[in-house]
Amino acid sequence: MSYDESLNFLYEMENTHPELIKIEKIGTTYEGRDIVLAKISKNVERADEKPAMLFTGSIHAREWVGHELALKFISYMADNQDIDPSLEKSLTESTMYMVPCLNPDGYEYSRKHFSFWRKNRRKNHDGTIGVDLNRNFSIGFTKQSNTSSNVYGGEEPFSEAETSAIKAFVDSHENITIAFDYHSQGNVFFPAHKFMHEAEVDGTDMNALCANMNDEFSKVTGRKYGIHRGKPPAGLISGSGREYYYSKGIIAIVAEVGTKNIPDYMKSMSGSINENIPALKHAFSEVINYSAVAPKRVDEFTIESRDASSVTLTWKYEVRDDIFFEVYRSTKDKDACNERTKVGVVGGITFTDTDLSSSTNYHYTIRAVNKTTGYKSPFAPVVKVRTWLEDDEFFKLIFANKSGTGYVGEFTQEQNRSHFGLNSLFVGINKSRGICDAVMSFDMDSIPKNAIIKSARFYIYPMNRVGAKIERFGEWNLSLLEQESFTEVTDFHEIENATSKGVMGRAIQSSKLTQGIWNHWSFSKHECELLQEEIAKGEAVFRLDGPKTLPDGEDSQMMQFDIGYGQYGGGIHYRPILDIKYTLENEKIKLASDTRTTISVDKVEEGLKSGFDKEGKRVYGYLDFDLTQLPDPQTTMITQCALRIRNNNTFKTKSDVRYYVELVEVDEVGTYEDIKNREKIEYIGYEVAESDMGNKECQYFKFDTLSKNVLDAMHQEGKKLKLVIKPTSALGMKNRIVEWNDDAELVIKYIPKRRTAVAKVENLKIAKENKMIKLSWDKVEDEALTGYYVVRNSFHTPNHFMDGVKIYGGKDTYTYDNFASFDKEKYYAVFAYDDVPNFSEPAVIKYNPLEKY
Ligand SMILES: [Zn+2]
Repeated sequence: MSYDESLNFLYEMENTHPELIKIEKIGTTYEGRDIVLAKISKNVERADEKPAMLFTGSIHAREWVGHELALKFISYMADNQDIDPSLEKSLTESTMYMVPCLNPDGYEYSRKHFSFWRKNRRKNHDGTIGVDLNRNFSIGFTKQSNTSSNVYGGEEPFSEAETSAIKAFVDSHENITIAFDYHSQGNVFFPAHKFMHEAEVDGTDMNALCANMNDEFSKVTGRKYGIHRGKPPAGLISGSGREYYYSKGIIAIVAEVGTKNIPDYMKSMSGSINENIPALKHAFSEVINYSAVAPKRVDEFTIESRDASSVTLTWKYEVRDDIFFEVYRSTKDKDACNERTKVGVVGGITFTDTDLSSSTNYHYTIRAVNKTTGYKSPFAPVVKVRTWLEDDEFFKLIFANKSGTGYVGEFTQEQNRSHFGLNSLFVGINKSRGICDAVMSFDMDSIPKNAIIKSARFYIYPMNRVGAKIERFGEWNLSLLEQESFTEVTDFHEIENATSKGVMGRAIQSSKLTQGIWNHWSFSKHECELLQEEIAKGEAVFRLDGPKTLPDGEDSQMMQFDIGYGQYGGGIHYRPILDIKYTLENEKIKLASDTRTTISVDKVEEGLKSGFDKEGKRVYGYLDFDLTQLPDPQTTMITQCALRIRNNNTFKTKSDVRYYVELVEVDEVGTYEDIKNREKIEYIGYEVAESDMGNKECQYFKFDTLSKNVLDAMHQEGKKLKLVIKPTSALGMKNRIVEWNDDAELVIKYIPKRRTAVAKVENLKIAKENKMIKLSWDKVEDEALTGYYVVRNSFHTPNHFMDGVKIYGGKDTYTYDNFASFDKEKYYAVFAYDDVPNFSEPAVIKYNPLEKY
């Protein structure tokens, strides 16, 4: 629609829906056009008394989709206000303020004269035209001398009619809780920030809101937008509307829609609009949850404990009958918090999540809900937890190495070598670079040669998708390369033609290239086996490749991933990661029994028998094993155990007698009474029927998990393992005794694995050095030490190595936090770890901005 058509449409809507829609003029542009805002709410006269959402569109002239979307959404709300109960509820309790076009002069110029126009149409003092309105707000405003620049922000903040109009409106409407500013392009959300590269308490609110909108998009078009809060060291934009709204306490987000500023309306823009309508409806329903009537945010949401299959979370909140809590869990970064991910509804202040996979990262958040009103609190900052290992497991997080990680371009052969360890990973195709592949190499030296990989995940951080300009075109595949098939990782042709051992996981479709959200591939069992073959070579080399051709008239389908090295990289936290869970080949030991006795009513005799005597009384077999013959329990983990035993005699007639083996606690076996009154600790998990004895040469009583745990504990305590073979029969048997051979043995499988962590780090200190925060600590003197792991958390003490942003991992006894703000309070924890890795208790220190360091 032209701007005039749009005004006509809005006044027409106001005429036909006077109870719902009110059009207000909020300013006049340089060229004399009205800047209008639509108030939409049931009983619109009272709109300003309700919590509200602000929508602004097309502040950048060429980004037409915001304007078009607003008009369509207004129609949608008018048509569905009494049909859709959730929309009806939102319109009853909240208000939508929409400025479909915040830059009418520029918009008309873009429509009629120069489609690529971005700024408004004011005449600058030196005769050039236009101010970038989204650089003309006050927060972080920077004055530029180049007035002809596309991002020239004007002489001073709010020098422009458009920005002062919206400022006046926002300043006088404290009921606004959520603001969306619609732009194009990139299919990405940019939540607001405070010019600090650190987590904010409401960061999770913005991420969750965007992720929930993503779930709505994916229902309509299958598309997923990125969620990107801006990260170091990329320059953060200054003087934007989003940061102004955020500074007023409003949750503020920019939506960059589509892959082109002005797409083919029928083919692309309508899809973008269709997917955003249910998404906006969702955002609108959240407005009330950020108002004064909503419950307050949960405090100190954190991990109480975790093991290989469960996580217990705790938090602080006033105990109230009318409040309950919703807990959300995902294995994905920045996932939605809705019915799909809700794992707990609880009344108390603790929750245990069960049946989880070992050595896996889980992300949790929580909100309080008022039972009476249904209003929900903001989210607690996300807590990341990695579940612990099973007894036989180890894990390694391996970061892509610097010299073997970079991209190779078809037309950049001369420079390809210099991309390694420095540049972002460009993957796909464009006119200037040609086809580009990323190469990522991982040192496998830290994995033992006899490791058996149980699971593996590959993580990579998509940092910019603006170069992926074509909707639904191409896919990005990760391959493990055959190392014999190339000699030079920096050579495009060698890498492009290298043999793939296999494509890992599923391809990423262009519609799912989510900037700012970690992408990960989980390897299948077969893919784990392929990776396992690389351990012997000491290195694994992966290639990520994208589309190889461009449709006519297109110039770019290129995706940019972070490398985590060099001046453009986001540091260690953003490097490609290979996350491997493995076990080791088992070692086996056989223990012969020490004592074998038979205990019947009237005697205790040597030799192992069990069954029923002439009177039908039980005859017990007793045997024990000296566990001190096993390797040192501190560095050994028993993985399997079975009692192997042979019977010397069999019976011709059938009976229902079955034999159980029990783990028992007895001081000594002197009499029948001793054994009858035995303390049973555990049944060994399996029993043997008499009918099996003729068929099999040996009987195996396999220890189940509980028995194995008991055995493990006895091993650590240096106890003797005592077993009783107990006969049972439902019908009652007499005179039936099995004689067991003396060669009974305990077959134990085990792996070498440390059980306990090395000592905690001492003397952790903070200093300021080279404009950075420096942490240092004393060396932990222990041969088993593999390294130190340093974590930062902006809200609470990290009590787990995943509970925060990783700052460092390695052997040095100091590190710098390159991107930390001096002005913000935060916590650091240093964990010492061994090769399992077992993590020590954290050494914790708080950074206080008021203190001198
Ligand atoms: Zn824009």
